[in-house]
Amino acid sequence: MRANDPNFYQLLLRIDQDYADQTREQGCLCGGVLHSARYPRKPRGVSHEARYHCDFRYSFCCADCRRRTTPVSVRFLGRRVYVGAIMVAVSATRASAGSAAAMRQLDDLGVPPATIARWRDWWTTDFVSTPFWTLGRAAFMPPIDTALAPASLLERFVARRPPGPLLSLLQWLSPLTSASAMGAVRDGR
Ligand SMILES: [Zn+2]
Repeated sequence: MRANDPNFYQLLLRIDQDYADQTREQGCLCGGVLHSARYPRKPRGVSHEARYHCDFRYSFCCADCRRRTTPVSVRFLGRRVYVGAIMVAVSATRASAGSAAAMRQLDDLGVPPATIARWRDWWTTDFVSTPFWTLGRAAFMPPIDTALAPASLLERFVARRPPGPLLSLLQWLSPLTSASAMGAVRDGR
């Protein structure tokens, strides 16, 4: 499973680094220069080798107005203690009632059932109420069955390779991972 492959996390880190570089180049909304102000993270469920690639989140602080700017991310979907890849992979396996082998791999990640249930709620209620989804849903034809999200979303990204469905979906979801980017989605930018 990609969600516990250290090389996969190394790739995600490189993508986040690109997002961070772009954010830094753009600078602060006030025109000020951005300085690195990373958030340390200790994600659960990832192997020791993989954790090395996701032990911080890129973030910046403006030298002038002190405002925080946090770039979008393919590693962290919000402030959850699990990385986005695990949240998506576990939720998708549950939603699609995956194969016995997939279920066993899922158990190996050790995510508590209560957490998995919370994630299911997030996909079927919170996610579908976001402006991101309101605008993004139109891109899928036939429409996505949101009761089966994110399995139903992952299916649509299977044809896009490289980089593979999980990474494609994480990239597609990345605007949800930054408050400033969500503002951009709402404004139609
Ligand atoms: Zn500023």
